[in-house]
Amino acid sequence: MNQQTIRKPVSLEGIGLHSGKQVSLTLLPAPTNTGIVFRSTDGDVVPAAPESVVDSHYATTIGRNGFRVQTVEHLLAAAAGLGIDNLTVEIDGSEVPAGDGSAKPFVAILNAAGRVTQGAPRRPVSIPYPIRVGTGGRWLSIVPSKTFRISYTLDNDHPAIGTQVLSCVPTEKAFAEEFAAARTYGFLDHVGMLRRIGLARGGSLENTVVVAKSGVLNGLRYRDEFVRHKILDLIGDLCLLGRPVLGHVIARNAGHALNFELVLAIQRALGLERRPVGATAPAWAALPASGLTPATATA
Ligand SMILES: [Zn+2]
Repeated sequence: MNQQTIRKPVSLEGIGLHSGKQVSLTLLPAPTNTGIVFRSTDGDVVPAAPESVVDSHYATTIGRNGFRVQTVEHLLAAAAGLGIDNLTVEIDGSEVPAGDGSAKPFVAILNAAGRVTQGAPRRPVSIPYPIRVGTGGRWLSIVPSKTFRISYTLDNDHPAIGTQVLSCVPTEKAFAEEFAAARTYGFLDHVGMLRRIGLARGGSLENTVVVAKSGVLNGLRYRDEFVRHKILDLIGDLCLLGRPVLGHVIARNAGHALNFELVLAIQRALGLERRPVGATAPAWAALPASGLTPATATA
């Protein structure tokens, strides 16, 4: 299987879930071995890679030399879920637009952009031995497997959530139909605290499943939408490895911080973090610095 990128640029705009700020982004085709790279209107570049992660509480934020992009996980999940390896993301702000709180808007524009198979093989990483992070009731493990599989258990005291268990092989079709539309969720009780620390400022009933004491305020897209969104987040965070993973992830009540711990543990187990002396710079380092490219398609 060879690497893939998109055929033509596509754009999207909206407000950031946490910042509440208006942002627009354009997805552009990128050369082989680029991975997914974010570029500011000033030409600053940050790759979606473990070394770029600067915060993983409530959302995954990457940054480099002062250029930060918050809440990258749903866009990364869409790219990974659809098997798109190489992509440049031009963004005129510091947070990916929330859309409807799921990966659905990103799947829609990536599908509208079309697909190009490129002249280099995809290089999946195989998990050599079981790896586990976390403690108590919150943990993640990954065990060797010939396919990528996720088995997730989410349990929460709130009766609207309860215990949700799902095991899946997220093929492109399964991802698009069963996971992409699952929205992020939040508890009404937590909104005040989150806003005080600068989070959830763009959160609303339009982009978040809001759980109040009485139950879900704005309906569910799937009976078990919560665990489906957890799986979506995990797919997005694992995308930071830059290569598809062959292994079975078994998860219980994880979040972005634990997902990132697993990414680092996989990286260590595979020796991926060490670039040999004299190795060439990654492809994204050679990307031209430029402003936003006009989009040819908008969704
Ligand atoms: Zn999420």
